[in-house]
Amino acid sequence: MEQLVETLNIDLEQERKDILKKYRRLLRTAKPFLKDNDAKLIKKAFYTSVEAHKDMRRRSGEPYIYHPLAVAQIVVEEIGLGTTGIVSALLHDVVEDTDMRIEDIDRLFGKKVAKIIDGLTKISGRFEYGTSQQAENFRKMLLTLSDDVRVILVKLADRLHNMRTLDSMPRDKQLKIASETIFIYAPLAHRLGLYSIKSELEELYLKYTEPQEYRAISRKLRETKSSRDRFISKFTEPIAEDLEKAGLNYIIKGRPKSIYSIWNKMRKQNKPFEEIYDLFAIRIVLESPQEGDREKALCWQAYSIVTDHYKPNPDRLKDFLSTPRANGYQSLHSTVMSKSGQWVEVQIRTSRMDEIAEKGYAAHWKYKGNDTKVRGNIEQWISQVRETLETGSGDKTAAIEFLDEFRTNLFNEEVFVFTPKGELKVLQSGATALDFAFDIHSEVGVHCMAAKVGGILVPISYVLSNGDQIEIITSNKQKPTEDWLRIVRTSKARARIKDFLKEDNKRYETDGRQLVEKKLKVLGIELTAEVVNQLRAFFESKTAADFFYKIGKGYVQFDELKRFKRDKEAKERKAVTAAVIPPIEGADGKTYTKLLKNIHGDRADSDTLLIGDDMDKIDYKLAPCCNPIAGDDVFGFVTINEGIKIHRTTCPNAAELMSKHGNRIIKAKWESNKDEAFLAGLYISGTDRVGLINDVTRIISNELHINMRGLTIDTKDGVFNGDIRLYVQDTRHLDILISKLEQVEGVYNVQRFDTNLTGSV
Ligand code: MN
Repeated sequence: MEQLVETLNIDLEQERKDILKKYRRLLRTAKPFLKDNDAKLIKKAFYTSVEAHKDMRRRSGEPYIYHPLAVAQIVVEEIGLGTTGIVSALLHDVVEDTDMRIEDIDRLFGKKVAKIIDGLTKISGRFEYGTSQQAENFRKMLLTLSDDVRVILVKLADRLHNMRTLDSMPRDKQLKIASETIFIYAPLAHRLGLYSIKSELEELYLKYTEPQEYRAISRKLRETKSSRDRFISKFTEPIAEDLEKAGLNYIIKGRPKSIYSIWNKMRKQNKPFEEIYDLFAIRIVLESPQEGDREKALCWQAYSIVTDHYKPNPDRLKDFLSTPRANGYQSLHSTVMSKSGQWVEVQIRTSRMDEIAEKGYAAHWKYKGNDTKVRGNIEQWISQVRETLETGSGDKTAAIEFLDEFRTNLFNEEVFVFTPKGELKVLQSGATALDFAFDIHSEVGVHCMAAKVGGILVPISYVLSNGDQIEIITSNKQKPTEDWLRIVRTSKARARIKDFLKEDNKRYETDGRQLVEKKLKVLGIELTAEVVNQLRAFFESKTAADFFYKIGKGYVQFDELKRFKRDKEAKERKAVTAAVIPPIEGADGKTYTKLLKNIHGDRADSDTLLIGDDMDKIDYKLAPCCNPIAGDDVFGFVTINEGIKIHRTTCPNAAELMSKHGNRIIKAKWESNKDEAFLAGLYISGTDRVGLINDVTRIISNELHINMRGLTIDTKDGVFNGDIRLYVQDTRHLDILISKLEQVEGVYNVQRFDTNLTGSV
């Protein structure tokens, strides 16, 4: 330490003075909120932190204590937290980085602070994008949020200071910390209504990840500032005059939009800076003596003054006064046409609303008790987070999935709807009637049949609109299906459906096992572990559970078990008796033809391989490159090591085989064989609708008794593309299936494909 001080030539006396200066500034800022023993407590936290960090320096060379002091300053000045928040901020790195333990904090500062520090320490691990560790840490962080939101607030302040001092970090760390910030912390700040912190985090992100573009935009903003200022003052002049006349106390701000949002707009619209018009918004902040309806009236009065001078765009009026955003944001937004023909966004709100917009959740505490509507929204959100976390199971993929969904939810806007009794529910935009049902209660969700919106019957997939009043219709017979996962948007509903399906699957699995056991007994086979494994392999299932599930669900028909028995017995025979056919010398078509003649005796066309008939005598396989099925036009190809392979004449390899190895080609024909099933693949596409998968699978399994090996469906923007692999008897069978599927409502194309059938589905 001494050495470091010497080499860096540090003035310790000056540093001590600086530390005290920062500490006094913190106390000054906090003073208006302090009561009783608060100042003493902060002092104690300060000295504890100084002592604990005394030998530590930040990467920049500064004394470490500068950091907790700065975090505490942000916590009080920019977030508006009180003593507990300040004390926690001062101590936030003590347990993580020094010898102090949680028990020490508990003893010195009590349970509340200890709990916050504990939360902060638990989430101190870095969030590495896309890893399960990241997701797990994030989950932990949100769990602490539901305990005490101050954990997140202090964490945000910590992150903000680290971003402000990112200069001293090496480049790779800068990029890592910056992307983490944009990935998680900026959205969280947004969701908690901390508008200025969110903007600054985004701004700093851009500064470090796209330094050139960042500098270019800020230079252009500076260059256009005077002309923008002129425009703003000309635009606001008549409004200010009338506000004055009406005797209103107000401030008008003409704020340029943030560099980050301009950058985003340029990127999204693919336009240069010069073509982005709404570079700023006009904000009218009104001084209002009391809260409540008077505030709203004032805002509308100002709106009326603005629209006396400028024509509003009726589509762009947003009333967040009566229905605040879920993060508590209240304001009146309008876009009006300026004299020079340019649209200008005008935001009108009171100073109380303005403070909430800037400081977010913390500012609500200041107005606690009065504004139950705003607080209610945030508390509703936090309780939603808590519920989702509690339903999500503990495994790692679940954590990653949860993180993804949570982030999606963070960015989504809300839709406001009502219960039949008029209770307001806030769901994410895009939510369906089914989401609403799950939001009311999971029992209502799992039995949801349909809904009534304004008295009109709608399907469960109905997408909610603002102001809808929804009544859910339930039935005891109804229960969730896989399809439901595509209908819901909220993570809560999704988690509940998944839980239900998991339970349900277990039931099918047990049923399946019992059925197989019974059926095999009839066939004289005992269900041993070895047989289970053979079954799994034969039915190409990933796991035994998977196989039993398919049986339980009826995807695999019992007739198939007979085929399994035959196959099993054939394999066992093969193991004892070697091939009937003598070894073939110089495998070519002629040798096989001779052999075929022997087999078929005097039959006409005796050099034709009869597929199905000759199977016991001649070693042949269906070629995987074109997957022939009975009824296809085919030929045999004599391979060197693998016997005869049957190809379709339309096989992509047919031309080459025939032209290069004509002597190894033999004629082949299908013999009727009802018992054999062939793997075939179908592409299916069409427009998506509820129950479509159900209709398709019903035709396949119930109507035509075809066994499916796999089914994947991708849907995007109302269009689905599917890939079905199944076992059919022959081409006629397949043709019937195709024409039936083509008749399903919404399906517009069904096509056979023949490559890669054996790959994973
Ligand atoms: Mn820190």
